[in-house]
Formats: sequence, structure tokens, C-alpha cells
Amino acid sequence: MPGSHYQVTTPRLHHSVYSLTDSSDIGPDDEDLDARPSLTPLERLSGDMCKNKNTIKDLMIGRRVGFYKVRGEIGCGTFSRVKLAFHALTKDKVAMKILDKTRMDTQVQRLLSREISSMEVLRNPNVLHLYEVVETPSRLHLVLEYAGGGDLHNKICNEGKLSDDTSKITFAQILSAIKYMHNANVIHRDLKAENVLFTSSGCVKVADFGFSTRISNHNDFLDTFCGSPPYAAPELFRDECYLGPPVDVWAMGVLLFFMVTGSMPFRADTMGKLRRSIISGAYSIPPWVPGPCQRLIKGILKPEPSERHVIDQMLGCDWLLPVEFPWSLVPSEPAGPLHSLIESDWGELEEEAEVRNQMEELGFTAEHLQNNQLKDCRNPVTGVYRILLHQAQKRRGCDSLPVVRGMVRDPKREGLRAYRGLRHTSKLCVLS
Ligand code: AMP
Repeated sequence: MPGSHYQVTTPRLHHSVYSLTDSSDIGPDDEDLDARPSLTPLERLSGDMCKNKNTIKDLMIGRRVGFYKVRGEIGCGTFSRVKLAFHALTKDKVAMKILDKTRMDTQVQRLLSREISSMEVLRNPNVLHLYEVVETPSRLHLVLEYAGGGDLHNKICNEGKLSDDTSKITFAQILSAIKYMHNANVIHRDLKAENVLFTSSGCVKVADFGFSTRISNHNDFLDTFCGSPPYAAPELFRDECYLGPPVDVWAMGVLLFFMVTGSMPFRADTMGKLRRSIISGAYSIPPWVPGPCQRLIKGILKPEPSERHVIDQMLGCDWLLPVEFPWSLVPSEPAGPLHSLIESDWGELEEEAEVRNQMEELGFTAEHLQNNQLKDCRNPVTGVYRILLHQAQKRRGCDSLPVVRGMVRDPKREGLRAYRGLRHTSKLCVLS
């Protein structure tokens, strides 16, 4: 088939690498296909991808990639372009990160394989989901959850600092994501406002795992300087090697400072001055920042990593005490609300049956599901499975926002839809 060489591991695959159906199921052209109501959506799509001239042309010019219809550009990174796309079967909106293989040197390849392997092991409501990877002869496409609410950096640059309550809600979700990642032995190493995305309802999605690394335990030393200098911990400039978790914690301190003040704690016009100011730990918090938040920032931005707050101290801080997470996110027997939320595997089993039924309705057979194991991200069956599973989890409330007890929201500023959604979440649990 044009534009791709990924394989679908199914015994019924005979005539096309895209096809999930036997060629004998497929009629001569699109009109004939549509005239056969017995065809499943999958059979119809596979038929189009093999025989329909327009679909084949779209595949050749990149307007279609695998099972996705590709639309306009929504962002641009150092090595990639990000486009909006739709899954042709589930109709879901996704973000497609496109990398030109011919322009990827070994360093970019390494970053990309880190990004994929970290995202593969992470499944948390505040970590951007990777649904599928589609490879064509010239390009790699990362099919990602769509975050339509922009990023934290632009939000603060356009609208100014966040209110205390919005900062709490945003920071609690970042904290939840990082706690989860560290528990899974993944260190992000590039936390910054540009990598904190929002869905259209305001749910935080930590993104961009290109600099992330997997460690075997929290005492493993690392030695590569990664990330953005204004967010870099002093030990990155000072020492030959460093521990992973405190480096992410420091970046969270910089993020928190940026959220509540609208400015960065360490600023300088040269790299040398920035380095010196970070190493000396010299910054000043405006006096109007509430005391509990000031104490949290001071506990995080300690130049000595061993004196710096650990995640559990941050979870238990006074400033976050009034934050409540919806019960819908907590598994049936919570040991401690946020901790169990973080450690939960999202009740996959509960939703699995529902998703398998939906896949059968689309035309995937038990054989497809069994043969593909639904674990290989370079497989279109896995892509459909993950998209539908995430949809089911969202219906269960996995993208609901935490709330701050006693908070009165301004719907115009904070997002009316998120607010309305929360009013229907009657049971809440308290953070930490
Ligand atoms: P990146 O290459 O990951 O740095 O992404 C470049 C830009 O694309 C970001 O700054 C975002 O504006 C946009 N972008 C990346 N991923 C997504 C996503 N999942 N949803 C929406 N926009 C995204």
C-alpha cells in the first residue's frame, strides 16, 4: 500500500499491509462497497484504502496516514510538525506529531525512541497518551491524545499569572503526573511550561518525553545535561552527575513560581549569569504570594538536592490541603485518595469488555485482537483499542479536574464547561 510499511499481524492479511480483511471481502470500488450493507466499517475502510482512488491519493500525499485523516497544522517543534487528525473508524480527534526520517540524525532518533518508550509505559490521566506510531518510508507519526486547550506557557504569557485556586488545580495535576512517573521509574528531565498542555476542559497533560529516561531505582546517578536552562536544577550545572527525581522536583518549583507570579525565579541575559544565579539559589518571592505557597516554593527551590522537598512532602503541604480529586478517579479500596489515584491502573479490566464489544462492532474479530495483543504501538489495532479505551475512561471521569474546597470560580476565566462538569461530580476526595 502507498505510504506505509507497517504490518498487521493477522492470518487474514493477504493483499495489503493496511488491510485487516481478506481481499475476497472487498468489492471492486467504493460504490460497490457502500452498496453492501453487510460490510463492517473496518472492511469498508480497508476496501477504500486498497481500491478507492481518492483514498489512495490521500495516502500518497499524506492527507491520510494509516487509519487517520490528517488536517491542518496545530504546532511546530524543533524536529517535528504537529497536525490535527481524525481516526477514520472511531472519529476521534488526535494530534499527529510528524518527523521527517531523512532529517533525523542519531541524536534525534535517540530522543524519539526515548519519547516512545517512556510514553509506552505511562498511563495516567495527567500524562499525554500515545495511541499509535505509524511509520512510512520517509516519516514517523506519533499519534497522540489531542490537547486542545493550549500550553501553560502561552496561557500565562497571554493571560498573566494564574489565580491561587487555578494554580492549585494545575499544580496538583502536574504533581500527580510526576509522582506517577517517578513511581514508574521514569524521569521527565524537561519539565517546563511549554510541556504542560491542557485539554479543552482544562485537564493537565504533561507532554514531551524526548529527554526522559528510565532508571532502575531512585538512587541511580545520571550524567547528561537535559532540559531548558531556566528550569535546570543547580546540580546540573555544578556536579558531574545527579539524581533524577530531585531534578524534576526543582523544575516543578520553577513552574510553580511561574504560575503564581507570572515571571521566572531565575532570569539573566547570559547563560553564565543564569547559571550563577541558579547555583546560588538567589530568587525573591513577591510578598503577595500566599504564605503556604511561599513555604512550598522555598521547600522545593533548595540548591542542595538532599534538602529539597520530596514529592510526598509536596503532596502533604498546607497550600494543597483544600484540593479535592473526584472519587471517580479513585479505585474501589483507596489507601489514600491521591496516592491510590496515582497508582491506579485505570480499571482497564472493567472497561476492556466494553471496548472489545465496540471493536467487534467496527469489524475487528476476536482473531485480530488476539493476534495483535494490543500492546504493540506500531499496530493500527492497538491504536483503535487505546483510543476507545481512553474514551471509555473519560466517560468514567478520568479527565475530571480536581477542585479547591470553598472556591468560587469565574466561569468566563476558568472555563465554563469544566465548571459545569465538576458540579455533577458529587463525591469528592481530599488530596493527600
Ligand atoms: P512538540 O514538538 O512536542 O514540542 O510540539 C510542538 C507544538 O505542537 C506544541 O507547542 C503544541 O502547541 C503542539 N502540540 C504538541 N502536541 C500536542 C497535542 N497532543 N495536542 C495539541 N497540540 C499539541
